[in-house]
Amino acid sequence: MREGFKTVLEFLESNMDVEDEEEHLCNQYESESNDSKVRRLFYNLARAARGHKDAIKKIIISIESDDHTVGHYCSICGWAVDFGKSPSVGNEERCSLCCQKFALLETDGDYVLKTLPQ
Ligand SMILES: [Zn+2]
Repeated sequence: MREGFKTVLEFLESNMDVEDEEEHLCNQYESESNDSKVRRLFYNLARAARGHKDAIKKIIISIESDDHTVGHYCSICGWAVDFGKSPSVGNEERCSLCCQKFALLETDGDYVLKTLPQ
């Protein structure tokens, strides 16, 4: 598991489980229905769940392969503070909008921002 993304990865894995269950149930309901409109509805819902799983899996793979940008929102103005891909704990960046300076830290497996004095 990649440093700094513990909670994000847990959330994504949990969402994969939900999408798996949704796909399974929709396939089951599709096969059990005698109404063509209902079968089509559940076919489309199962297809959407597969699409969601593919998208989530791509995010997980990008995180696990260190190909995912580390970003947080500035606590002062809400703008994105970008630490790039594969940053090191302790890296410092400035918010490009309000110029507040932050350090990237890690707490219990998650990246957090520490506001630094100007
Ligand atoms: Zn800012």
